[in-house]
Amino acid sequence: MSPSTPVTATSPVAIVTGGARGIGLAIGQWFLDRGHRIALLDIDQQTLERSVAAFDRPDAVLAVHADVRDPRQVAAGVAQVVAKFGRIDKLVNNAGIAVFKPVMQTSYAEFRDVLTTNLDGAFLCTQACVPEMIKAGGGAIVNIASISGLRASTLRVAYGTSKAALLHLTKQLAVELGDVGIRVNAICPGPVETEMAKLVHSVAIRSDYHDAIPLGRYGTPEEMANTVGFLCSSDASFINGQFLAVDGGFDAAGVGLP
Ligand code: NAD
Repeated sequence: MSPSTPVTATSPVAIVTGGARGIGLAIGQWFLDRGHRIALLDIDQQTLERSVAAFDRPDAVLAVHADVRDPRQVAAGVAQVVAKFGRIDKLVNNAGIAVFKPVMQTSYAEFRDVLTTNLDGAFLCTQACVPEMIKAGGGAIVNIASISGLRASTLRVAYGTSKAALLHLTKQLAVELGDVGIRVNAICPGPVETEMAKLVHSVAIRSDYHDAIPLGRYGTPEEMANTVGFLCSSDASFINGQFLAVDGGFDAAGVGLP
């Protein structure tokens, strides 16, 4: 589907978790621009409602207020999408949180919250969406992991562990769901200018990233969305169970994470 494909009552449907802002919102925009109806699911109701109102497309954009950590809220959210749009074709597990602390300063509650949001959330949303995707004749799932899931480092005992586990979940799902026509892939973003980066990237981390990334800059949410959109599209019809680093060459350079 090309940019500006019109949305109709039979257009494919994409759910993006954590879609109220940042990378998730850019992914939603990518799908809408290419003729999809979109459901943006997020825990932050105020930001979600503001973002959805800005689209001004009640026919094609649905706000789903839910916490990906809660199975009942996820099930209710997916039911809301099916009630409105009648089908689900694509799922992007993007909702995530980051805590950057060394092991001895990370509380067990923080560790569990990062794991539950970044890993269990993807599991629960996948379980809720797969039956609808099968009814729709197949589909695609993309998990938003991180270069922190590829490399160990200080400060990322919770975040890096959650993203590495999400990458393995991606492979498990790809193997299991291939025969029902659902492809599952992941992207590993490098640093991207969002509210999350503002929260956890200190001045020192920012400076180290700029030195370590061959392209010499942070990525943009739109660059992540372009890659997710490709992986969900028919252009990627034989790509399954793969991780794509979208990181300006950081992983290829082989230097340590700041
Ligand atoms: P962000 O903080 O701007 O957006 C994350 C969104 O997820 C927010 O709208 C938030 O409300 C939502 N969310 C958080 N917990 C939730 C929950 N329990 N249920 C539902 N929604 C929830 O962050 P971002 O930078 O746009 O990150 C998006 C994804 O990309 C995350 O998975 C993140 O780990 C990953 N990522 C980001 C970067 C980066 O540098 N920004 C790098 C690598 C990977």
